[in-house]
Amino acid sequence: MLPKRTKLKNLPHHVDMLAIGGGITGAGVALLAAQQGLRVLLVEQKDYAWGTSSRSSKMVHGGLRYLAQGAVGLTRESLREREILINELPGLVQRHSYLFPVYKKQFPGRWAMGAALTLYDWFAGVRDHQWLPLKKLQQQLPFMAVHKMNGAMRYTDAATDDSRLVLRVLQEACAEGATVMNYVQARRIEARKSTDGNIGHSEVTLVDALSQEERVITANHVVNATGTWADELSATAPKIRPLRGSHLIFAAHKLPVNYALSLLHPVDKRLIFVFPWYGHTVVGTTDLDHTQPKFEEAYAEQEEIDYLLQLIKTRFPHCNIGYTDIISSQAGVRPIIRSGKDIKPSEEDRGHLVWQAPGRITVSGGKLTTFRIMGLDVLLAAGLINKHEYKKQYRRKTLFSHAVAWPAGLGHLDVAQPITPADAATLQAWWHWAIHKEQVVHLDDLMLRRTHIGNVTADGGLALLTTHQHWLTEQLSWNSAQWESEIERYKNIWQTYYQPKLNNCVGG
Ligand SMILES: Cc1cc2nc3c(=O)[nH]c(=O)nc-3n(C[C@H](O)[C@H](O)[C@H](O)COP(=O)(O)OP(=O)(O)OC[C@H]3O[C@@H](n4cnc5c(N)ncnc54)[C@H](O)[C@@H]3O)c2cc1C
Repeated sequence: MLPKRTKLKNLPHHVDMLAIGGGITGAGVALLAAQQGLRVLLVEQKDYAWGTSSRSSKMVHGGLRYLAQGAVGLTRESLREREILINELPGLVQRHSYLFPVYKKQFPGRWAMGAALTLYDWFAGVRDHQWLPLKKLQQQLPFMAVHKMNGAMRYTDAATDDSRLVLRVLQEACAEGATVMNYVQARRIEARKSTDGNIGHSEVTLVDALSQEERVITANHVVNATGTWADELSATAPKIRPLRGSHLIFAAHKLPVNYALSLLHPVDKRLIFVFPWYGHTVVGTTDLDHTQPKFEEAYAEQEEIDYLLQLIKTRFPHCNIGYTDIISSQAGVRPIIRSGKDIKPSEEDRGHLVWQAPGRITVSGGKLTTFRIMGLDVLLAAGLINKHEYKKQYRRKTLFSHAVAWPAGLGHLDVAQPITPADAATLQAWWHWAIHKEQVVHLDDLMLRRTHIGNVTADGGLALLTTHQHWLTEQLSWNSAQWESEIERYKNIWQTYYQPKLNNCVGG
């Protein structure tokens, strides 16, 4: 539960740390700093997790692909973090079985995969992979084409709800004393010198997107955790190569998978995931340079939809999947630290970087999975912990110490279970919780990030909203003009960025 959204004028004039960006990186920084006893403020220009952190492949994982690329350190670190999160956040970060089909005369074969997974498991401190012979695989996945397939390696990783993971980290940060505010943009950061000529503190201009109110606050440490937008506030030469990745969401009965599958795309042999999520099936992702307008939400382009459908049609020919089966798409932009080399998007390193300029520390790159390490690296760079303390914290196996309440009657959040509530009372109980306890400002916050009804319902949940209009307006204290403008805003967002673009499509 988050405290009620406050007003800029109620914020303290000075804080120990200001974290800019309400994605997983900023949330992680805020939590670790608050756990150090610092007075922390986090601001997010839109909604929490509005950026990349609600558009991932929903995995808390080591990354088999990164291991194959030789990024052993990143894989090892991510697997350690995976295990911590699985242990600490049951339901929200769920251990899950993944299958990697192995084909005749194609690399990697059974033994190479077995060796890689032995190492993968060893890094994580678990022993959980096995060979599934073809017959067994066919029983488990009757709809998958098994032509030239030998069988599959089953291994373990974890599935999550990325935007709720961000909320959970923010809730923990608030329980440790942090203040968080969405729809507040940091416009300008200025380093101020102290009397001895060193940088004493920073002044940051904040603007509330709802009231247009402006306020300057000062902070001893300012952390720019704005992901893809990090170059805007870093005051250094640009470092980010924005790479877009898109996913498609299908009804589970159209594309039934009870395992998450790691499949090689028939054209370029890139790894694509087909995985169950909240009772639906998600397919992704693509990986290409992002050239859409930088400050708008990203969307899946026609060529990406075609590319992902090509995989589905090849691997699941009997499911007869076509464009009209896509419930929604979701695109996110990876904040990749540019290598400067002329290499393909998928070859760029997925690690993170912390760098400094007067009055600010910037952190970007990395993964959802490694947010705790990114936060620790920031504390070290800020001089808030020394190397000894860093090592001690790095080895810690716990992060969360506050329980989080959940609406009565809703059971536990479980990414493996269908998300759409079966009846109106349950739906309203959930919405009520989100509206009153999780700083919902707009309908898209409610539909796309607190609940995912907008992602898994064919019309984005617009019909459902209309059915519950009276109740929702009461809960949100909106008059009819506000409701109309909110519905229009949500419809526009959903149709522009989440509804699959069906023009010029080939086939059915
Ligand atoms: C397609 C795809 C799949 C992925 N899959 C996985 C996966 O399965 N597992 C995994 O571990 N990682 C995955 N990742 C990587 C992971 O999602 C990202 O590394 C992570 O979400 C980045 O988080 P962030 O907080 O740095 O950035 P963001 O989530 O983008 O957060 C930055 C925030 O800063 C805000 N902001 C920007 N400017 C300002 C400003 N001036 N003032 C205030 N706020 C501002 C933005 O609105 C934004 O919300 C994936 C990434 C993509 C794109």
